[in-house]
Amino acid sequence: MASYVMKFGGSCVKDGSSVRRSAEIVRDYVERGCRVVAVVSALSGVTDGILEALESAERGREDYVHSFIENLRARHENACMEAMGKKDLRKSVWEMVEREIEEFGKLLSITAYLREVTPRIRDYALSFGERLSTRIFWGSLVDQGVKAEYLTGWDAGIITNDDFGSAKPLGITYQEVRRKLGPLLEKGIVPVVTGFIASTPDGVITTLGRGGSDYTATIIGAALKVDEIILWKDVDGIMTADPKLVPEAKPIPRMSYDEVLELAYFGAKVIHPGALEPASKENIPIRVKNFYNPSIEGTLITGMAESDTVKALTMIRDAAIILASGIGASEAMNANVKLLDLLARIGAQVIMVSQASSQANISIALPREDLKKALKAIKSEFAQDEIKIDYEEGICVIAVIGSGMRGKPGVAAKIFNAVAAEGINIKMIAQGSSELNISFAVKEEDGVKALRAVHKAFGLNVTR
Ligand code: ASP
Ligand code: MG
Repeated sequence: MASYVMKFGGSCVKDGSSVRRSAEIVRDYVERGCRVVAVVSALSGVTDGILEALESAERGREDYVHSFIENLRARHENACMEAMGKKDLRKSVWEMVEREIEEFGKLLSITAYLREVTPRIRDYALSFGERLSTRIFWGSLVDQGVKAEYLTGWDAGIITNDDFGSAKPLGITYQEVRRKLGPLLEKGIVPVVTGFIASTPDGVITTLGRGGSDYTATIIGAALKVDEIILWKDVDGIMTADPKLVPEAKPIPRMSYDEVLELAYFGAKVIHPGALEPASKENIPIRVKNFYNPSIEGTLITGMAESDTVKALTMIRDAAIILASGIGASEAMNANVKLLDLLARIGAQVIMVSQASSQANISIALPREDLKKALKAIKSEFAQDEIKIDYEEGICVIAVIGSGMRGKPGVAAKIFNAVAAEGINIKMIAQGSSELNISFAVKEEDGVKALRAVHKAFGLNVTR
């Protein structure tokens, strides 16, 4: 009997009708004799909405908080209406949802009164997004005749440290999840679990970081050693490039955990980066599938790397380059280390680094929003004759990803040729030490053109 953990987030839980459709998918698997755990995210946009409401509460804006709660109520009431047909069920689910909204309303009012949001309160507030949506999802399954049970992340056994905002599961989580969910599955019941939220051993609510429902799914999948973890989305899988930028982008049939991690590092919002770890540790395949189109295979992510040279491209916009030069050759190494260390200390994100072999200059690409603080810190940390700094804004970084490029010559040349053929100048290039990626920087306005050229040069536009 095949077993699955399935996560529904984003467009799959946008409103009542998408919740119903998602629940139908679960029902179809159950009817085919599969064991399923469903993990559900907040209705799309709700988490962002809660964060905004908290900011207003911090500024004492009680009026805003009030209208936010009213909107939340209306949206979830509509969702209940659309997700369930049976009147009695709908009524009792709505009563449960409404009680939660009342609790949440009180929390926000108190926060607006105190004008203070601590990380602990933030996580408590964020937990309502998933608590509301998951109840409705559960109701929709029951409405369709599926035996199901609603559980919060902590009910399901996910116990974390108290690193609010990005909590990590404790070791006992895995046996707890087995203890809590195993018996339900034995009885043919579908556990319907809130994604993203968990609690400390003392029962204080925590969250697993943005996009954390993926993490919930892989933690549960690893604990139960299921056959597959399915992340349902509104696209046919992980794509060779962002289809909005490269219309001929194609779904990638197979990827390795490492490749996906690399993509996530370069800003592609494919999966919560932490979510790969539990799955890869237990070697459980993750599949990204389209909930509009469930018969399509999607992307299968496993530990196995294939020989394809290049799998996917991703682009980070709004970057800048700092060029540090004129460092005397002998002190250069030290200065470079000092520079990178400084950037890490001030929390500037380094996207890529490249160093000329003379070691007398170094280029660093970073998000433009980090540029100002970086320049300021460099100015105060280095003596004037120690280092000469130039910078350039309006940069974008393109990362070319694929495990097959490891030890394969000519990949960089192919990239350069493709980009040069478009008459585009490459500002900087670097290969990650993992050899899973080559990244390069071009002017912002050349980005899309370069992206398309490389996409074509590696034949990513051809269906495989
Ligand atoms: N609702 C949370 C978020 O938006 C978790 C998730 O969607 O996976 O970050
Ligand atoms: Mg969300």
